[in-house]
Amino acid sequence: MRTALRMSRIYAPTLREDPAEAEVPSHRLLLRAGMIRKVAAGIYTFLPLAWRSIAKIERIVREEMDAIGCQELLLPVVQPAELWHESGRWDVYGPELARLKDRAGRDFCLGPTHEEVITALVRNELRSYRELPVSLYQVNVKFRDEIRPRFGLLRGREFIMKDAYSFHATQESLQEHYEAQARAYGRICDRLGLVWRAVEADSGQIGGKVTTEFMALADTGEAELVHCSCGYAANVEAAEAIVPDHARSHGREELRKVHTPDLRTIAEIAGAFGLDERDTVKTMAGTTEDGRLVFFCIPGDRELNPVKAARAAAGATLLDEEGFAKHRIPKGSLGPVSPPRGTLIVADRSLKDDASWVVGANEDDYHFFGASPGRDFQVDVWADLVVARPGDLCPRCGSGLSGARGIEVSQVFQLGTRYSESMGATFTDEDGQERPFIMGCYGVGITRSLAAVIEQHHDDAGIRWPVSVAPAEAIVLPLSVEGEVVEAAEGIAAGLADAGVETVIDDRDERAGVKFADADLIGWPYQVIIGRKGLATGMAEIKHRASGERESVPLAEAVARVRELVAAGRS
Ligand code: ATP
Ligand code: MG
Repeated sequence: MRTALRMSRIYAPTLREDPAEAEVPSHRLLLRAGMIRKVAAGIYTFLPLAWRSIAKIERIVREEMDAIGCQELLLPVVQPAELWHESGRWDVYGPELARLKDRAGRDFCLGPTHEEVITALVRNELRSYRELPVSLYQVNVKFRDEIRPRFGLLRGREFIMKDAYSFHATQESLQEHYEAQARAYGRICDRLGLVWRAVEADSGQIGGKVTTEFMALADTGEAELVHCSCGYAANVEAAEAIVPDHARSHGREELRKVHTPDLRTIAEIAGAFGLDERDTVKTMAGTTEDGRLVFFCIPGDRELNPVKAARAAAGATLLDEEGFAKHRIPKGSLGPVSPPRGTLIVADRSLKDDASWVVGANEDDYHFFGASPGRDFQVDVWADLVVARPGDLCPRCGSGLSGARGIEVSQVFQLGTRYSESMGATFTDEDGQERPFIMGCYGVGITRSLAAVIEQHHDDAGIRWPVSVAPAEAIVLPLSVEGEVVEAAEGIAAGLADAGVETVIDDRDERAGVKFADADLIGWPYQVIIGRKGLATGMAEIKHRASGERESVPLAEAVARVRELVAAGRS
């Protein structure tokens, strides 16, 4: 027989006060509801209530993975350095990779991700195209020594991830499975009760890769998105920027050199001359992979996207202080007119029709006004260089884009042969030829998802769990310790448990106010309130935590009603 959990026995030390270190609601509420405790920066213990919710998230994720033919296994957390040398990542991963030595002095790391281990597994086991495709996943602890762990579970150092890896003989097969994974990820978000968007994501410095991020919309999210009513959505870092036309306050002018003492920033120049920031052009300096100096010219009110800059100019990276000193150029007044010899001029395509620009004169305290491309300087490359932002035009339909912030809860990625080639993981294809596996990888942040759910489902009093993720579905609150009240409450709790509802009874010898406050804080979806007054007329009250709605039901019907409500919320 199923029984109700007893609040007096649950290890969930709730806190009355907001913990000072918590900057976002999920962090604050997870601590206050007695669900997590910090052990070190970005490293947490999950207490029983959080662990119950995590088990539910994992179950949903497992169901969706199993449904698309992805098989669960478990890979080790501790990985030998040799594998990372083979993929070439040991030397490039940086300090986020936690490295350690065993007693014999051999190098290991704590897995931040598992491409190496799984590629090494299949290269010894899968031989023929007949055995493909294969898709494998695990739910495991990851360690990334993040430079700035923060926001509780949103950016931890030790966290739980579901990661899947697939191996294919053809690109078509990868594409098919990639789409199945993406659909599964959408269903996972839905079942977790998240409001989400699938967004075009940054494919990184290498470029050309296919990837989608799944973002839970939240003001506290670290990612900035643009989206359109036509369905287009993208991370601003990845989005193509179509800058709307700008009516300049000046037309084609003569080139003139203007003394601009102490005016270094765009805002200062614009302010001093009564210009819109958009009337000016910002120039930033970098060097290409082979050491050539590049000037990137963008509208004065925009940010340069370093990934786009690198793509437009042979892997260019921006100069640091040392670079400025080496090239002897003045940081505060760069411009395309008479730059150092050999400088590559790359300009944002939105500037193409602008007749004349306000630009730095490559000389401290001087700017050129009325600088015209073609007449006063040459642009070598026109490209999309800026970070997209709300108000830009949708690359699909041309309408204005809206902005939002999001939490990246998951990501799907077409890896191609990046790992199979470097690690020599091949199979024999139909023609008897050895070919590297074509791979995909797919990650869901389990603990980040838990926090994302709270970011979207809370109020001042506490968490408002969707039924699918709640540590339990209902709580029975006897408002006094009188025999009659307790008896009725125990009866309903037993009835609910027996009816398959995950039920807690608050059997503590506490004031009604304390029980209400804790129930709202922990956020059980349904509260069944049993008090002396109601009992006199044979009634119980049901409070819906999410909506705040309250309904009065006859005691005899309370179990059936809660069961019905809970069933509707399960997914
Ligand atoms: P981010 O850009 O936020 O650092 P990422 O793109 O590096 O994340 P992936 O390698 O795509 O992360 O990992 C897959 C998933 O693991 C992410 O979508 C996220 O949900 C989760 N995740 C990644 N880093 C963390 C972290 N530091 N704490 C909690 N979850 C994380
Ligand atoms: Mg990611």
